[in-house]
Amino acid sequence: MTAATTTAAAAYRGSHTADRSPEELREIVSHVGAELELAPAEDIIEWAVATFGSKFCVTSSMGDAVLAHLAAKVAPGVDVVFLDTGYHFVETIGTRDAVEATMDVNLVTIKPDLTVAEQDAQFGKDLYKTDPDRCCAIRKVKPLADSLANYDAWATGLRRAETHNRVIAPVVGWDAKKGKVKVSPIARWSDEQVEQYIAENGVLVNPLVYDGYPSIGCWPCTARVAPGEDPRSGRWAGQNKTECGIHS
Ligand code: SF4
Repeated sequence: MTAATTTAAAAYRGSHTADRSPEELREIVSHVGAELELAPAEDIIEWAVATFGSKFCVTSSMGDAVLAHLAAKVAPGVDVVFLDTGYHFVETIGTRDAVEATMDVNLVTIKPDLTVAEQDAQFGKDLYKTDPDRCCAIRKVKPLADSLANYDAWATGLRRAETHNRVIAPVVGWDAKKGKVKVSPIARWSDEQVEQYIAENGVLVNPLVYDGYPSIGCWPCTARVAPGEDPRSGRWAGQNKTECGIHS
């Protein structure tokens, strides 16, 4: 661990940065956004931890643990937020449990206000079929926004190579909807770089990735993808929907 990394880790564990207004947070983004654009992922996380301390978290959908692994190296004990929609594959929950058991992170599982049964009772059975946007709003967008109230900045594993919607995703940007700094340390990584990092570091990967599911969300809205197909084509397959709303 470098001296700078040690400082970043200490900052995460011990410091509680002063409350900052959305304007102050946006000002930080305007100063460093371009500066960090070409920085290595570890340096980007190190900057975020040093700047936001315990008001920085990492989010993970548990497709793999690359981002959590990177963050744990820089700031052991870092909060890793996992959104349990109630519709996850058992393999995804297993990956979450394995991350919690084996990595030096503080796993924070968040859930929607409504259970699936309560949602069915209120909006009709299988809302994901009748109104998937509303289902995502209830089960993904709102609970994540609520949980981020405790933080000034959040990191995502979003990558520009994933979809055309994400090609302009900044490494450090302003998330106006949430009023938070959004950090995407591996935004510039290619699929090959992800695979290389996983292989070299023995990073946990959701077993479904090796079973035809390169992009994994809730089971009702995730289909197997044939080799060579767009990796995200299995998400909301057959519907005019490509994002859940968390990143748009
Ligand atoms: S991905 Fe599907 S099941 Fe999950 S919250 Fe969205 S619509 Fe509902």
